[in-house]
Amino acid sequence: MANLYDRFFACFASRLAEPFIVHPDGRSIRYADLHDETGRIANLFASLGIGHGDRIAMQVDKSADALLVYLATLRIGAIHLPLNPAYTPRELDYFLRDAEPALFICSPANEPVLSALCRDAGIANVLTLGTDGGGTLPARAATMPSDFATVDMADSALAAILYTSGTTGRSKGAMLTHDNLGSNAETLRTLWRFESSDVLLHALPIFHTHGLFVATNLVLLSGARMIFLPAFDLDAMIRLLPRSSVLMGVPTFYSRLLSRPDFTRELAKDMRLFISGSAPLSAEVHRDFSARTGHAILERYGMTETNMNSSNPYDGARVPGSVGFPLPGVEIRITDPETGLPLAEGIGMIEVRGPNVFAGYWRMPEKTAEEKRADGFFITGDLGSFDAAGYLFISGRAKDLIISGGLNVYPAEVEALIDELPGVAECAVIGMPHPDLGEGVVAVVAARTPGAVDADMVRAALADSLASFKRPKLVFVVDSLPRNAMGKIQKAELRARYAGSFE
Ligand code: ATP
Ligand code: MG
Repeated sequence: MANLYDRFFACFASRLAEPFIVHPDGRSIRYADLHDETGRIANLFASLGIGHGDRIAMQVDKSADALLVYLATLRIGAIHLPLNPAYTPRELDYFLRDAEPALFICSPANEPVLSALCRDAGIANVLTLGTDGGGTLPARAATMPSDFATVDMADSALAAILYTSGTTGRSKGAMLTHDNLGSNAETLRTLWRFESSDVLLHALPIFHTHGLFVATNLVLLSGARMIFLPAFDLDAMIRLLPRSSVLMGVPTFYSRLLSRPDFTRELAKDMRLFISGSAPLSAEVHRDFSARTGHAILERYGMTETNMNSSNPYDGARVPGSVGFPLPGVEIRITDPETGLPLAEGIGMIEVRGPNVFAGYWRMPEKTAEEKRADGFFITGDLGSFDAAGYLFISGRAKDLIISGGLNVYPAEVEALIDELPGVAECAVIGMPHPDLGEGVVAVVAARTPGAVDADMVRAALADSLASFKRPKLVFVVDSLPRNAMGKIQKAELRARYAGSFE
């Protein structure tokens, strides 16, 4: 029984009359509906000749139906391949030619343009899916029987290809197996104490590992329910928090909640758990959140290629600025980025091994070989260190490491100090080419309110706390930092914006 869907089914089979998804307007999809609808969609896919190992690519706006497509794809043994709706047709062309799906699903509005693109790319089948139940996919699935025998799969068979966020370069397709996803979700269910009584407030995108796998798989494995928001909507979140027990968010969810005076201790009093990931949560936001609500946000660390790697504890201290302990069954080691040898202490490359680690990059064997060692460890590209108590701290991405005058400057260390200064909303520290030093440290600081931060004040404030080679030579004050859909600060964009600063 290795099909991931069967793992889910075993957990929700006794709760078929209960809701899986509740919409803010009160409509719901029960587990029985989920099972029937995914059976119909699976029969539709099978009628198109799609099956084991075929890719089903999808670029649609967030909807509950899109999650049913994911589950139907699992049931027929095909490979789910969701794409960010923000991609333009030109970008999509790359993904479709790379993935060669047997079927492409798009929103009805995009069909005229994209079906032509699919024809050119040799994709045989195109269906549409709207956010209101419209489109050719639901219409055709409605004519199909709901009975479908879920296909048996090997643990090592592919369940999904998920493209990385493209923060450090072109997105790569990470091949994830049924057991990569199943084992990780089972580990998190135990660690985070998910129960069928949980209500997860879902406001994340579902083309990314966080909203798709961490959130949805965990709910399915617990027979729990989620309140499903079509997008990040602060007003709706504040309205719905009292009916929820768990929130999963990127750090901006938490800083934006804190910016609202009506986000109070009272509002959060029945919540069980707030979880953060996908980008670093500043220690300051962590502390402010605890002070406001009495809840310590649980920060965890993961990536598209590995699912989740580490988490702060459920019981015990959730340490601001740390991503916690390796998950049970997951090994994390710190190595010398030059030699690859394990380091006993200090900052180095974070490497990960375990049942969570992906099968490789889709059609990129050289890249897979570069990043996956023969002994099974995956080289994450993130730098970090363990403290004496075993907590993992991330120092930033290896590609963002600044080498100034031959000395390493870890952006996270400088960013944490700037974040604490009065009037600072957030910041990014980057290295820019410098004629003497190789790279010079540059800080880009977003003020909480216009005029709240002064560049000279930032430089002066760091003089006591940082060695001179780590101090920003230049400080730019801005209104906000560029972020992508996952709330990740786009350092590549900042480097382009401030190129030539030291010339
Ligand atoms: P690409 O690999 O295409 O450059 P990406 O690495 O941003 O993009 P994802 O797989 O979405 O794509 O993100 C994983 C990365 O997000 C991790 O490698 C890490 O750098 C960062 N990350 C995730 N969780 C945390 C966290 N809690 N704290 C700090 N960084 C985090
Ligand atoms: Mg990455």
